[in-house]
Amino acid sequence: MTSEAIWIFADQLGDHFLDPNFDGPVILIESHAALRRRTYHRAKAHLILSALRHRARDLGERAVFVTADTYRAGLKQALDTLGMKPEQVIVRAPTSHPARRLVADLGVQVSPSRGFIATEGEFTDWASGRKRLVLEDFYRMMRRTTGVLMDGAEPVGDRWNLDTDNRQPPPRRQSTLGLPEPWWPVEDEIDEQVRRDLDRWQMEGTIVTLGADGPRRFAATVDEANAALVDFVTHRLAEFGPYEDAVMASDWVMAHSLLSAPLNLGLLDPRDAIDQVEQAYRSGSVPLASAEGFIRQVMGWRDYVWHLYWHLGPDYVASSNALDAQTQVPDWWQQLDADQVSAACLSATLADVRDRGWAHHIPRLMILGNWALQQGFDPQETTDWFTRVFVDAYPWVMAANVIGMALYADGGVMATKPYAAGGAYIKRMTNYCGACVYKPTQRVGEGACPFTSGYWAFLHGNRDLLASNHRVAQPLRNLDRLGDIDEVALQVQQRGSSPP
Ligand SMILES: Cc1cc2nc3c(=O)[nH]c(=O)nc-3n(C[C@H](O)[C@H](O)[C@H](O)COP(=O)(O)OP(=O)(O)OC[C@H]3O[C@@H](n4cnc5c(N)ncnc54)[C@H](O)[C@@H]3O)c2cc1C
Ligand code: SF4
Repeated sequence: MTSEAIWIFADQLGDHFLDPNFDGPVILIESHAALRRRTYHRAKAHLILSALRHRARDLGERAVFVTADTYRAGLKQALDTLGMKPEQVIVRAPTSHPARRLVADLGVQVSPSRGFIATEGEFTDWASGRKRLVLEDFYRMMRRTTGVLMDGAEPVGDRWNLDTDNRQPPPRRQSTLGLPEPWWPVEDEIDEQVRRDLDRWQMEGTIVTLGADGPRRFAATVDEANAALVDFVTHRLAEFGPYEDAVMASDWVMAHSLLSAPLNLGLLDPRDAIDQVEQAYRSGSVPLASAEGFIRQVMGWRDYVWHLYWHLGPDYVASSNALDAQTQVPDWWQQLDADQVSAACLSATLADVRDRGWAHHIPRLMILGNWALQQGFDPQETTDWFTRVFVDAYPWVMAANVIGMALYADGGVMATKPYAAGGAYIKRMTNYCGACVYKPTQRVGEGACPFTSGYWAFLHGNRDLLASNHRVAQPLRNLDRLGDIDEVALQVQQRGSSPP
């Protein structure tokens, strides 16, 4: 008779969340209250249900798979089935503050979190006594302690940071990077059942979703996640570095890995991804700039963002609004209504999110985040929106990325200056502007690029709050040289929250 069971959440689905010498029951709970409470992207709801159900199938008889309204009710059902008490259940520390409060309240044993490279204790040790938590310092510490991309005590190639090699604009005379199609999953009977269930719940009115339905584009099993990783390393990793920061209208994936969803579902162990990428570099099949660029994202940014979520505390998101941003997120944005938008870059990005629940880093930051920042979208509403519409979004990813990096809502805890950019920068890093009804260089008049006028109006409106930030000193001097700033600001005000 087994004396203990493990309970895993829907974002703890990989083998690395189980101990190799544990062969007891594994509890998986499909909670419907979570789906009912908010309007999620259909592709996100599908992916999570599909991944959880696939894991239950793959665990076979060990799985105690329960569907219930709430996690509390689901756990009770599972305990009744197993004839166990809560203290016999071990749960991996879940990934959000509310979920950690819940498991503490349920009386189960909570074991340390998994799915990241550094432990929470290691991060706390590193962070303690530091005045500023800087990604680059964290990343170098991680490289040293793991030995990844190190030759003894030195970084391979004698450089820690290859970002300057990795900031290429899109290649000008081509419409795509010309890489092979990424690996795509083949849907199965579990996906069919998920689709039927979602259709039924939607028809009954018990859930509301937004965005387009399928086909499922992200891995939902450990095998699929590994296949996606191998495909990325083989076919796209070599080009990952140089075009990391570029956007091409006709190439929504470019050389990105599409691995955030399986990583965040816990299907893919980040260490496996890092090791395969390092191996590809050491065997000579990809350049260092690409391998380092990818490893920096996963072992640097992903881990850093996760640990900051805990470090910044449960009130960080709700209490951050340093720029006093009060604009309600407009309906066309909420509904992903890309067709109402004329600005080519924003329309295409919203359409990508509508159709797939995904866009790569630069559209998230430079187009969506930048627009939300310039327009003064309420930070909590914006965070909620990102969490609901991206397939890979979870509360822990939102704190640093949306509140800190995109919106500067924490006043500079996370970023040293607001990530505001006008049309000139978007023109340099994307190929949207040529086909746009607006002109990136124009800031007033009918053809004025809404990002350009929005950029200047943002600086103008936040001048007092930003005046002491030396990193904004040059843009503020440039602002002083504009003779038409009142006109620009008035125009932005008159455009209001209508789709640009
Ligand atoms: C406003 C905003 C919102 C974001 N929302 C999310 C989100 O909901 N979920 C999410 O996983 N990432 C988010 N990111 C980070 C990043 O944009 C995505 O991880 C990436 O675009 C996912 O695509 P990919 O797997 O092809 O990534 P790649 O470009 O191939 O990068 C490799 C991996 O690095 C990791 N990574 C890179 N940057 C970050 C970062 N800043 N934070 C966390 N992980 C990172 C991801 O795991 C990603 O899979 C957000 C960034 C911004 C600016
Ligand atoms: S002109 Fe402005 S709105 Fe149009 S694509 Fe360029 S940056 Fe976007």
